Amino acid sequence: MDGLLIDLASPMDSENFDKEHFKLVENDIKHLFKTFTENKIENISPVHEVEFSCFLASMKKKEAKEKSSLKYINFNDSNIGTVHNIWKSSGTDPYSINMAAIKVKIATGIMILQYQRSRFSKNCISAICPLCNIEPEDMTHFILKCEKLSSIRNRFMQELKSLLVDCNKPPLLIQELFDDKENLLHLIIDCTSYHFLTYKEQVRIETLTRGLCYKLYHKRLLLMSE
Ligand SMILES: [Zn+2]
Repeated sequence: MDGLLIDLASPMDSENFDKEHFKLVENDIKHLFKTFTENKIENISPVHEVEFSCFLASMKKKEAKEKSSLKYINFNDSNIGTVHNIWKSSGTDPYSINMAAIKVKIATGIMILQYQRSRFSKNCISAICPLCNIEPEDMTHFILKCEKLSSIRNRFMQELKSLLVDCNKPPLLIQELFDDKENLLHLIIDCTSYHFLTYKEQVRIETLTRGLCYKLYHKRLLLMSE
């Protein structure tokens, strides 16, 4: 079990590692670990799915809901033992699972953006996006706005819109989703909160947004290393 603890807790991008945030995440994972032990949940594969569904269950607590880094996750429809759409939609293909792991990092705030880095440093570190230097790098900026990532984002946004059209969603609804950044982030991070989408549609959207998040994450890493 120690291995699991390390596996989920270690950020892939060490330069995005933040000790204070890591402590918060580590505490959540320790709570999760305790849940495992107490409920004798064992031998369930792949283990990440169980970890994440327990993580979501533990996050249902009011104080966790208020953590801004988790506000785009749909807690209301997640139960212990239910595999979340982020994992479920990725199937068994290792490449998809790897992309889902990145999506989880982004969705749960394990991936540290400059805005959080600044907050944890008590504003000693600037919150301004290190890629474009235009405005604070929060989730909205990273996923929807940063111009340095627009070449990746634009194609996916077009595909996302086409997908909704293909699913016969009313034009007004699509416009409402795309005109409001909060709505759009909910759609991208965890579309399961939108009950007007069928399960199949949620899987299609998750597959697309998994790719978007994965590409944005890697493009950011690449630009940061230049
Ligand atoms: Zn930027």
